Amino acid sequence: MPPSPAAARLTIDLHAIAANWRTLSARAGAPAGAAIKADAYGLGAVPIARYLVAQGCRDLFVATWAEAATLGDTADGAIVHVLHGIEAADLPTAKALPTAQPILDTAEQAALWHQAAPGRACDLMVDTGINRLGLAPADLSATQGLNVDILMSHLACADEPAHPHNARQREAFAALGTPHRRRSLANSAGAYLGPDYVFDLIRPGLALYGGAPCPAATDLAQVARLHARILQLRQLTPGDPVGYGATFIAICPTRLAIVGLGYADGLPRAAGAKALLDGREYPVVGRVSMDLTAIDVTDAPPLAVGDWLEIAFDLPTTAAASGRSQYELLTGLGRRFQRRHLRA
Ligand SMILES: *Cc1c(COP(=O)(O)O)cnc(C)c1O
Repeated sequence: MPPSPAAARLTIDLHAIAANWRTLSARAGAPAGAAIKADAYGLGAVPIARYLVAQGCRDLFVATWAEAATLGDTADGAIVHVLHGIEAADLPTAKALPTAQPILDTAEQAALWHQAAPGRACDLMVDTGINRLGLAPADLSATQGLNVDILMSHLACADEPAHPHNARQREAFAALGTPHRRRSLANSAGAYLGPDYVFDLIRPGLALYGGAPCPAATDLAQVARLHARILQLRQLTPGDPVGYGATFIAICPTRLAIVGLGYADGLPRAAGAKALLDGREYPVVGRVSMDLTAIDVTDAPPLAVGDWLEIAFDLPTTAAASGRSQYELLTGLGRRFQRRHLRA
């Protein structure tokens, strides 16, 4: 059976990701890796890794060994760093993936790696005050004899540049004396905290994908664009309600475009969504449904069933309007989209 056409498209601009990656690296004055965990925040880890490695990215960060395995040979030429570290059940996968290495988080993981893969490179995550994963500075004696590539830590408050916790974590990190080849502290937001936070490598995720990790980050290009197909056009007369709860009632003759995209695809249900056409905005009216959204196109040029409308998805603006984080917006994009990766 030929596939039925999708009602919604997600376009991922690989060129914009690479441009953001270069912008971040130039700003830091140091190499940038790329966080591609959670399928590159929902945008497709394999095509994104392949593109960034071809552009010269040498360090990729995933959460699990399953994610590392999914990359296959895409990541050839780069090191794949695994944030969850290692447990005994991961060792066969680790053996099969010679260019991946665990980011060790506990003394037990350090002992396991030391014994199972003597001399093979690893990284260390040191907890300097987020209390998620990581070794306490006092545990670092348990890492003696390991071949440590990156000594790293993770900032809790980097998106609030004035937060005093940033400097506390930086001081604690800078004081660590354990042997290593490279040091890395900054995620996307950390890359905007200034040269003291850069060390040898930055590890952006969100900013690569067009998110603004802090108010100062106005130099990043939008990466993900949503388009929805018009399934029906309707004409409302004054008094006609729209959608569940009849929360919108037409006060004048109104033309509606009903498009095939809804909250099941990750469009926030909160008010404020907009469609974009030829540089103008058209408001979503009524409640966003699971698979359908109504757009007031009264002032738009002539439209037909089957036409595509862009749905605004600039991450900082959409996050502010919906009260959801930029990370949730990206990772919440659903599986029904026809996904396209633009290469130029
Ligand atoms: C996810 C993650 C990153 C990337 O974070 P962003 O805020 O998306 O830039 C960097 N480092 C670690 C340890 C992470 O878990």
